[in-house]
Amino acid sequence: MASAFPSSSSSAASSSSTSSARNSAGQHEDGDREPQGSPGPSILDHSYAGMESHDLAEALANQPSKVHSSVETILATNNSLLTIPDSVVRYRNLRLLDLSNNQLTEFPDCITQCVNLKTISARNNLLEESSFPKNLHHLVRLNELHLSGNLLSRFPVEVLEVTSLQILHLGGNRISTVPKGIRSLKQLEVLYLGGNLINDLPFEIGELNQLKVFVLCDNRLESLPTSVSNLKQLKSLLLHRNRITALPVELIKLRNLLELSLRDNPLVNKFVRQMVYNPPSLMELSARTVKLKKIPFSTNELPENLFEYLTCAHQCVNPRCKGVYFDTRVEHIKFVDFCGKYRIPLLQYLCSPKCSDTQSPAYEVSDSDSEDERIRRVLLG
Ligand SMILES: [Zn+2]
Repeated sequence: MASAFPSSSSSAASSSSTSSARNSAGQHEDGDREPQGSPGPSILDHSYAGMESHDLAEALANQPSKVHSSVETILATNNSLLTIPDSVVRYRNLRLLDLSNNQLTEFPDCITQCVNLKTISARNNLLEESSFPKNLHHLVRLNELHLSGNLLSRFPVEVLEVTSLQILHLGGNRISTVPKGIRSLKQLEVLYLGGNLINDLPFEIGELNQLKVFVLCDNRLESLPTSVSNLKQLKSLLLHRNRITALPVELIKLRNLLELSLRDNPLVNKFVRQMVYNPPSLMELSARTVKLKKIPFSTNELPENLFEYLTCAHQCVNPRCKGVYFDTRVEHIKFVDFCGKYRIPLLQYLCSPKCSDTQSPAYEVSDSDSEDERIRRVLLG
């Protein structure tokens, strides 16, 4: 194959029939006919070239300086690379680096000098959580980072410092927890965590207020934090193949949600079998009566701890019940039409097992409470 530059026919590059340089339109250039003074190629493609690390190092180093300044994309996928060669720093305008399907075990320090990088793809390599340089946050223009299909058993902390990230793929690893520090990735619009071992999400996930696509399929989640209701931009929430029994009722607030995938979760069936109810304590029973009978109370006549206890009563969600609960509650699933497409199970709490039978709630509603009932129906969709 004709190559744009004689020097690119290094031993490594020439050993491949596919290594090539392309202009920005992706067309192969013919070096002989290239007009003088024209910019060099913007893409260097060394994919499927049978390269080891030193081969790529040589191929990158042996380009004329014109190429070092013009190349914006380096593709070296499907080789046998163990690391990223230092010579990559010569490419001052590098925007995209794709090293997917290699055997990378590290991101060396040199990568942090490529400060114009916008996208790094290193899917299907051998990267671990210790594989990243401390100064990864020097890549202040990095928007996309693709690390799916590696050996990460923890969320790499260095990645949490790259606050410019908009797209982060960490699928197909062995990650079991999402750190609270995820809150620092405020620009994230796509977070792909499918195919890991995640069993819990931090409340702080709700601070990713630009998030549009959140993929959590094929994990071990049993529930979602109520803070997901703060993800107001969320359009797609994929939860299939988890261990979720019910969703927080707050999910109904996600008015932009277009796609919600729930298949292969135990949802209600398993949940009903596991439902248990311990009777309320005497203190709770007394406090319930105080609230139900609207008996006035103040700090003048009550110790502070009792006063505080009485003020944290939760209303039973049965619209026909006017009872409250404190510590003892009964989990209840309500199916709600969602986006006109789905009927999803939402987790609510009732004051007593009797309240799950809507014909005879634990505490009957009087006429004066009918407005409460109306408002609650609106909230639950
Ligand atoms: Zn009730």
